Amino acid sequence: MKRIGLLTSGGDAPGMNAAIRAVVRTAIYYGIEVFGIERGYAGLIDDTMMQMEMRSVSDIVQRGGTKLRTARCLEMLTEEGQKQAVATLEKHGIEGLVVIGGDGSFRGAKCLTEGYGIPTIGIPGTIDNDLEYTDYTLGFDTAVNTCLDIINKLRDTMTSHERISVVEVMGRHCGDIALYAGITSGAEIIVVPEIAYNMEEIITRINRSRANGKRSNIIVIAEGVMTADAFAKQLQDMTSYSVRATTIGHIQRGGSPTMADRMLAAQFGNKAVHLLKDGIGNRVVGIHKNEIIDMDIIEAVSMKKKFNYELYETLQMISM
Ligand code: ATP
Repeated sequence: MKRIGLLTSGGDAPGMNAAIRAVVRTAIYYGIEVFGIERGYAGLIDDTMMQMEMRSVSDIVQRGGTKLRTARCLEMLTEEGQKQAVATLEKHGIEGLVVIGGDGSFRGAKCLTEGYGIPTIGIPGTIDNDLEYTDYTLGFDTAVNTCLDIINKLRDTMTSHERISVVEVMGRHCGDIALYAGITSGAEIIVVPEIAYNMEEIITRINRSRANGKRSNIIVIAEGVMTADAFAKQLQDMTSYSVRATTIGHIQRGGSPTMADRMLAAQFGNKAVHLLKDGIGNRVVGIHKNEIIDMDIIEAVSMKKKFNYELYETLQMISM
């Protein structure tokens, strides 16, 4: 393979830039040209791209966001859009494509692979950690660390005023950000889409913690359940404690990637190019049990994300 394309698609995630860098540098190492496609599939359809050099990816390893920018592109869902995307690739002699994004972006890659025989490699870039085949996605660790920083600060003020803080985190339909941020921040309660909550049980738990000397409580709620405001209101209506709601919001999607995300980015990007170089396409890369793995893209997107009930039980035992 002499020339490959690279795009970032869907929601941005810290570590995407580090992955772009790893793909570009590995490809150049092997004498493969890289075309950076702007704004995800939209740029592929509109033919907005540039050749990337060694220095095009200087000074980005530490930056959040994505140098290639990203977009959600409805046209890619249509046959016409897909044909246009393939025509762009053919026009530039691009033989393989690396797609950094979440499950939606992988579905786009799957279409190009299944329908038109374009070898594609998916790199999981989403803060949501909602892909079953990989233990971690790029950006998740940084997003959780951002939540921790904010929860630590909230704990200070909540303890001073003996309040309950309801903190809303992202994750779409997946509760992993809430689970990991909850367990590592010492939150007493997490509310996730995967487990139905019972407000009376939550209040019993809070009462017990207060009887045991606790002076504040943190409840981390995933956006897939409801807003922090709505939950705080429900709770406030049923208790005399003072309740405050905080929505962390898009701050979770930005910021300098952590060591863990930069390392994943380096390994995922490197692996993606190795696969294409060896003529292997139609795969996604990931990490499982500390090993960098690759898997059939169709199999990967059809796997249903499982919730880690063991970690949830751990939180129940140690946060009270
Ligand atoms: P995140 O998890 O951060 O939201 P994502 O990759 O899942 O990222 P989506 O908006 O679901 O984000 O998908 C990104 C883009 O991938 C879509 O805008 C569209 O261009 C393309 N895409 C999604 N689903 C399909 C599909 N079934 N067929 C073709 N293309 C698709």
